[in-house]
Amino acid sequence: MLYNVLKIERGTTVDGPGFRTSIYLAGCRHGCPGCHNPQSWDFEAGVKMSLEEIMDVVREEEFNVTLTGGDPLYNPDGAGALVKAIKAEGLTVWIYTGFTWEEIVEDKSLIAAVEGAEAIVEGRFMESLRDESLPFRGSSNQRIVYLA
Ligand code: SF4
Repeated sequence: MLYNVLKIERGTTVDGPGFRTSIYLAGCRHGCPGCHNPQSWDFEAGVKMSLEEIMDVVREEEFNVTLTGGDPLYNPDGAGALVKAIKAEGLTVWIYTGFTWEEIVEDKSLIAAVEGAEAIVEGRFMESLRDESLPFRGSSNQRIVYLA
């Protein structure tokens, strides 16, 4: 399976606790007004990387990992495969998604994708609820849901 990767940030501190490797996966259909990165909506944006190529970067850094985008859960099989591979390295995973927790639990493929993640940061970005003081979130409707 090939992933369209917008970028990989090494050692970032804004996408979850501690230093992290953040993997930005292309593609999102939520269309949130005020989205910080509309270029990320295109599923063909970025460069194509295999799971092993992504994992090579993860192993080089040895940081816990965040999957973000775009919305990684528009490719639930791909996101789930990454979660499992990262966990197998003894690292934890956070996932940023525009889907709400309620939407995830109602969809077998989405719940399977997040299984094994430590936490998800969920919900569409809502400009009217923008709050830059919130750690790891853009608007106050978004929640951090701990799974492990
Ligand atoms: S879910 Fe995230 S990437 Fe997608 S439109 Fe909303 S803010 Fe933008």
